[in-house]
Amino acid sequence: MTAGRHYITTTIPYVNARPHLGFALELVQADTLARHHRHRGAQVRLVSGTDDNSLKNVLAAEAAGVDVRSFVDRNADAFAALRAPLALSLDDFIRTSSDPRHRVGVERLWRRCAASGDLYRKEYEGLYCVGCEQFCTPEELVDGRCAEHGTEPRLVAEENWFFRLSRYAGRLHRLISDGELRIEPAVRRNEVLALIEGGLHDISVSRSHGRARGWGIPVPDDPDQVVYVWWDALGNYVTSLGYGTDDPAYDRWWADGERRVHLAGKGVVRFHAVYWPAMLLSAGLPLPTDILVHDYLTVDGRKISKSGGTTVDPAALAAVHGTDAVRWWLLRDVPRVGDADFTPDRLTARADADFAGGLGNLVHRVVTMVHRFRGGTVPACAAVPSTGASGLAGVCREVPGLVDAALADFDFRRALRAVWSIVEEANRCVDAARPWELARAERQGDGAAARRLDAVLGALVAACRVLAGELGPFVPGAAARIAEQLTPVEGRLPAARPLFPRPARPTVE
Ligand SMILES: [Zn+2]
Repeated sequence: MTAGRHYITTTIPYVNARPHLGFALELVQADTLARHHRHRGAQVRLVSGTDDNSLKNVLAAEAAGVDVRSFVDRNADAFAALRAPLALSLDDFIRTSSDPRHRVGVERLWRRCAASGDLYRKEYEGLYCVGCEQFCTPEELVDGRCAEHGTEPRLVAEENWFFRLSRYAGRLHRLISDGELRIEPAVRRNEVLALIEGGLHDISVSRSHGRARGWGIPVPDDPDQVVYVWWDALGNYVTSLGYGTDDPAYDRWWADGERRVHLAGKGVVRFHAVYWPAMLLSAGLPLPTDILVHDYLTVDGRKISKSGGTTVDPAALAAVHGTDAVRWWLLRDVPRVGDADFTPDRLTARADADFAGGLGNLVHRVVTMVHRFRGGTVPACAAVPSTGASGLAGVCREVPGLVDAALADFDFRRALRAVWSIVEEANRCVDAARPWELARAERQGDGAAARRLDAVLGALVAACRVLAGELGPFVPGAAARIAEQLTPVEGRLPAARPLFPRPARPTVE
């Protein structure tokens, strides 16, 4: 499944605040998929960005006493600046309020849906949650408050544009049950199917210019209305490819691409798996092929929230613990389904055990033995029975396929458990073969022992190289250090050095 062209996107977050660790999870997952497919020879385009046109941003700017433009620019910069601390291999980053490709693309989408007869004006009165940026039904509220945000929605009465979502219920249900539009994990797919079975109502897709505070994209040919922020934001998945300007990138990655993959958190599944595909069906455009849904992080048992003081700044975390340690925790410890609880202690414990203890220890041991027993020259791999070398080579051959399968299921933990089986098998191989005893026998003239030692050392170095290759998409920095340690210079491996010196960790949290 990795050949071909993969277009991979993250959601574009509101910029009403600075980025938190929950969004870093999605960025790191998307980056890992992108790197993995590139590593397997596919062509990949990885895109993220920011949703600048939300009313939330306007209200947050007002609360901060800053004009909307500077407020949005400042926070959007903080999201764009995650690229280095999280080692993101982004090909593009779109900002919906300032990217010249975006507005023309949203306008074209709108006009295509209008041409299909799917947009109409209607008087409407409803309860609107600004946090969700959507109308809620009374049944969705808990004691009159939004279940997600705990705030009271506002009563809004105005004439808006509506989108005939109801028309697409049958087709969407079929496409999703057939797997043509694949939603992973299955629990999320079933949720979406149940939502569709419960009946889809047409949705409001504009708001008055006044209620939007004049911020956002005007409805084509109706400047008194502003395009609903979700319509605008979802459009980024094609506007960033130049859909509105006949850019060949749109054909290459969307119309003719093999995989169109969206990552999204569980709270916004209905927008990605229902509204967006319906918009595309209405506009006559291809749908995404995969929607990969992650759950949430909690911090010390509490939901991440600005007001609760539980935000964790991913850039600051990477500055203290290192990029690889942050990525490793997110990918190795966060389950595919179910929320994961973050604490700095969990992150450091995981990094100490796996980096210094697991990987660092193994590679150091192997390189040291190659120097001690073979003067730094890596022996050729040879099949010598009863050395454990062939068992190790067998595990190494299986792991890439297991990683492919796990990542196809959007299961990063399972992928890393597969990679980790190389570490475990390599350590077993050392313990069973006891290379130091083979070396002693060799010194006493035992030729068979010499050949077995060659086979074991050759297999161990090969295994460490496979490790470096398979780890690259997950922890690019650590993998590069391992690869460098295993790259001969003038025929010999560089002297063994600590790959994971413990970072000096300040005691501030
Ligand atoms: Zn809400």
